[in-house]
Amino acid sequence: MSLFTKDIGIDLGTANTLVYMRGKGIVLREPSVVAVNTRTEKARYVGKDAKQVIGRTPGSIVAVRPLKEGVIADFDLTITMLQEFIHKALKGRIFTKARVTICIPSGVTPVERNAVREAAEKAGARHPVFIVEEPMAAAIGAGLPTTDPTGSMIVDIGGGTSEVAVVSLGGIVTSRSVRCAGDSFDAAIQNYIKKKYNLLIGERSAENIKLTIGSAFPSEQEETMEIKGRNLLNGLPENVTITSTEVRDAMAEPLARVIDAIKTTLEETPPELSADIIDQGITLAGGGALLRGIDKLINRETGMPVYIAEFPLDCVAEGAGKVMENMDKYQDTLVEYLKYYEK
Ligand code: ADP
Ligand code: MG
Repeated sequence: MSLFTKDIGIDLGTANTLVYMRGKGIVLREPSVVAVNTRTEKARYVGKDAKQVIGRTPGSIVAVRPLKEGVIADFDLTITMLQEFIHKALKGRIFTKARVTICIPSGVTPVERNAVREAAEKAGARHPVFIVEEPMAAAIGAGLPTTDPTGSMIVDIGGGTSEVAVVSLGGIVTSRSVRCAGDSFDAAIQNYIKKKYNLLIGERSAENIKLTIGSAFPSEQEETMEIKGRNLLNGLPENVTITSTEVRDAMAEPLARVIDAIKTTLEETPPELSADIIDQGITLAGGGALLRGIDKLINRETGMPVYIAEFPLDCVAEGAGKVMENMDKYQDTLVEYLKYYEK
């Protein structure tokens, strides 16, 4: 039995990393952040602890997100982070290397994919590291009938990328990955406030505004929020009150890009599968699925029924876990499975 507990599935996201352990489910959820001491170049804090210090660090410590737009931006820090998370998830119970199944966005190049595989191996994973495409994992984790001969559409709106895919018979039929998601919403809020109020706010404040009063679709009740920033004209701290309508306007452009990706994918879907999607609707996963009214907006723009997965933030890790636990069933789902296993 102890042998099996070393099998893990990892959702290495731009915003959050989750670890799923065989037989246990998700055992770790942490932000994909590392705080580094610039003098020693050593990682000081990883995950939750590091996110706390973003924007608040003394000069010698900087908080870094080793992944950007779905791909590895800092290779060494990705290894450090993965090492720490794997270690934490296994609670030091590891004597031999863990067998790892890890997810990558569908739009990445083979080079970017190999970087993920290599980083996982350097972080202590056994060779070979199994790779699942994120939208596939998300669809499985959301409980869609991915191996049936019916089309399901999954839209995973994460931090760095939004992945749109139609899956059927264990594979991806059509997909689109746009480097526009939660981070882009935050950046759009930051920009809007800078332009309209000459007020500079940090990344975390922008995210906080989105989480507190952000929405993608008008609701009866308008909300307001007081925000703090630095006035660009006189350099002094200042408070401004903004409304949910303003926040929605600010996010309109990146939201439109996500909608575009959904529409294009629908257009490229073979007619038989389109019919299935009309029946079964579009399922939303990823943190972006929690943005209020996003289901209504997508429904209005596409005419399809839209559902939000029960635990949007967990779908990809759950899916990776299920693939790992049922490798035979999901052979077709694993990228390059045959290369390693049909020998
Ligand atoms: P990734 O897979 O890229 O790591 P996640 O699926 O973990 O991303 O989602 C993270 C993104 O979801 C972040 O941009 C975060 O701000 C956003 N998010 C999380 N909760 C909410 C919410 N309630 N409303 C809007 N956005 C949210
Ligand atoms: Mg994700």
